[in-house]
Amino acid sequence: MEKLTLVCDLCGRPAVRSVTLKVDGRNRLIDLCDSDTRMLTKNSRAPRRGRKAATVIGAPARRGPGRPKGSKNTKKAANGRRKKRRVAKTSASA
Ligand SMILES: [Zn+2]
Repeated sequence: MEKLTLVCDLCGRPAVRSVTLKVDGRNRLIDLCDSDTRMLTKNSRAPRRGRKAATVIGAPARRGPGRPKGSKNTKKAANGRRKKRRVAKTSASA
């Protein structure tokens, strides 16, 4: 059987770890080599309680369920069910 080797998603060298990123509330997994891990974590910080969640520039502001304030759309779904929430498209920016 072929041995599965992780490859760095940034440079293609053998990866040493998988890193989980949270983008728009969704978890993304990226495999990184040692130097790219250091490069990525160099400017990072540990999350702290009571602090506002990091916002991604260009991403829509997070809000709770339901209609946004001032929405004129008071129509109910034809079948009486709640509409499925649309999933915001995530655009990765490096
Ligand atoms: Zn790399």
